[in-house]
Amino acid sequence: MDVQKQIETTEAGLNRLARNLWWTWNQDAQDIFEELSPRAWRYLYHNAVAVLRELSDEELRVRLLDEEFNGRVKSVLQQFDGYLNATDTWAATNAAGLAKRPVAYFSAEFGFHETLPIAAGGLGMLAGDHAKSASDLGLGFVGISLFYREGYFQQAINSDNWQTEYYSQLDPANLPLEPVLDDEGQPIVCEVEIAAEPVQFRVWVVNVGRCPVYLIDANLPTNQPHFRDLTQRVYGGDNSTRIMQEILLGVGGVRLLRRLGIEPSVFHMNEGHAAFLAPELMRERIEAGVSFPDALAEVKRQCLFTTHTPVPAGHDRFSRELMDYAARHFYDQLKVDAKDLLALGRVNPDDENEEFCMTVLALKAARAANGVSELHGAVSREMWWSLYPEGTVDDVPIGHVTNGIHLAGWTKGPVRKFWRRKLGQVEPGADLSEELAKPEFWARAEDPVFVSDEELWALRYRLRRELIEFARRRLQDQEHRSEASDFIAFDHLLNPDALTIGFARRFATYKRAPLIFDQYENLVRMVRDLRQPVQFIFAGKAHPRDDEGKRLIQKIIHLSKHSELNGHLVFLENYDVHVARQMVSGCDIWLNNPRRPLEASGTSGMKTTAHGCLNMSILDGWWREGYDGTNGFAIGGDAHPENVEEQDRVDSENLYKVLSSEVLPCFYDRDENGIPRAWIGKIRRAMATLAAEYDTTRMVREYTQKFYLSE
Ligand SMILES: *Cc1c(COP(=O)(O)O)cnc(C)c1O
Repeated sequence: MDVQKQIETTEAGLNRLARNLWWTWNQDAQDIFEELSPRAWRYLYHNAVAVLRELSDEELRVRLLDEEFNGRVKSVLQQFDGYLNATDTWAATNAAGLAKRPVAYFSAEFGFHETLPIAAGGLGMLAGDHAKSASDLGLGFVGISLFYREGYFQQAINSDNWQTEYYSQLDPANLPLEPVLDDEGQPIVCEVEIAAEPVQFRVWVVNVGRCPVYLIDANLPTNQPHFRDLTQRVYGGDNSTRIMQEILLGVGGVRLLRRLGIEPSVFHMNEGHAAFLAPELMRERIEAGVSFPDALAEVKRQCLFTTHTPVPAGHDRFSRELMDYAARHFYDQLKVDAKDLLALGRVNPDDENEEFCMTVLALKAARAANGVSELHGAVSREMWWSLYPEGTVDDVPIGHVTNGIHLAGWTKGPVRKFWRRKLGQVEPGADLSEELAKPEFWARAEDPVFVSDEELWALRYRLRRELIEFARRRLQDQEHRSEASDFIAFDHLLNPDALTIGFARRFATYKRAPLIFDQYENLVRMVRDLRQPVQFIFAGKAHPRDDEGKRLIQKIIHLSKHSELNGHLVFLENYDVHVARQMVSGCDIWLNNPRRPLEASGTSGMKTTAHGCLNMSILDGWWREGYDGTNGFAIGGDAHPENVEEQDRVDSENLYKVLSSEVLPCFYDRDENGIPRAWIGKIRRAMATLAAEYDTTRMVREYTQKFYLSE
């Protein structure tokens, strides 16, 4: 092959690579895009597709004439193709049947990367990580979701410290998306009925390694404007928008799979949002002559359901009127009375006043259901016992699979390199993501032969500094936008030597973001002690219609600017995947203080481990299982008062107690070289006990063995 031909092949390879999210968890691939244009990489927010588009054909061609660079690109492309075509995967041995008849995983949101903001929070992040690990394991897996053209909102804080929302249009041409085309090269178009009207949609595919995730897009000129806007925003609009989005997801998703000729072996509903896939699957059978009860029984054999919320208000419920309006075509299509269809969403089928609940529908239509941590499984059995009154609470058929995170994707670039050097036993070119999921890999973190205290402490300093510099830049931009006149020395904001405590997540009220400030006097005393500096970094979004959550943000920002905590507390705007990655890596302590047992699992704390940040959390969700007394800190114990005010009071006292009597003394207990040996011991324990256990590799294997493969 002549040089020109070779370069064209490599260019085509780079374009393919940019459009497959695999690069987001492969450091060598990421380095290449960054190196092509370090500045564009930064201001285009790490968007490989957009970075490539910045370069002219001429520039790219010439860059590839550089043999060293060209060699690295080729080696990455080889890794990439090796990954895509591997036949010796875990699933090839353990779940070969799913290759031809995949798992179809339906989720209203998927979080993959900061450039594709179509997730609102943990539920979507989990779905994205599930897809990435399914790919790593070689599992037959396809995802179904919606393409929200304006994504989830961006957050800005106004001069009253009040959250405001703005939206920007996502441009598919600049994203790792491809249109799904038919045999003639035309975009495929499918149709669903909503409010007895036809609504058409087209489809985009996100390539997540080996797994496609299809995104339904109703923004077509053939649709009436109000239907076109159904896929505008993540959880946008009111309950009427919500039910229509869910019809699009559930019914549209099934029709899309049929259209693509994909014959799933199981339909996995990630949260109740997707449950309308069940009546659609029933319709197919009823049209073929099967009775309603038999259709339900058959569909049930194919469906699985994961519930995510122990908060009663967190379950979608639709009124009779709304069902009659938006979903009335179901009655005709399934050839039943409204009453029989509505019964599928009611705990008590005869109660005409009971609203239609998507969780109930999902539970009735699934052969198996699970919560997302052991405690959440138990809470869910309690919560839905009324649906299964014939047995005891332990007989309620809801189990659990504890959540995880896709570790390779969440680990910061320099940290991936660090662990490859220290603990890796693979050749330089080999894929680290598999290694990171192994308990043996992380067991080495407990052995100073592989990594010394000094190296770990230097890593902690480096990551803390990176976070602080990131925060300074962000705060400067925030201040710039708010046109405040105060002079702030941003270069001196936050202290790189201080114990840095992070809190970042959705500002749902049960997560109690400002709980620690109930100990205001104590905290002021604590931050005044210059021998043991402490600082707090907060971030998070409240739902656009959640004024209570916005008030919590306001309170924290107010304290950060106008209280004695000023200088020791900052709030970073616009929490997203990128901010999350900076925070879970740079902080020393990851604070989580939900009102137990309302945090079904929580996953942000799992992202900290590989970076040497320790959890300090209420024993709720995953931490109730993860904490073993040596690998972080627990706030309070297993008992918690029923009364909410009492619980808040007790928890804030316990929080302060752990912080002042365990965390600070341990962090500041230094040897003659200034190294906190006991603290680093805890970091090592956290790595050895948590990193592999809470990787989605373990989680997806568990789903496969417990649910996907067993009928
Ligand atoms: C991990 C993550 C979450 C979930 O965090 P929780 O602690 O489970 O609430 C939410 N949003 C973003 C951007 C995340 O990265």
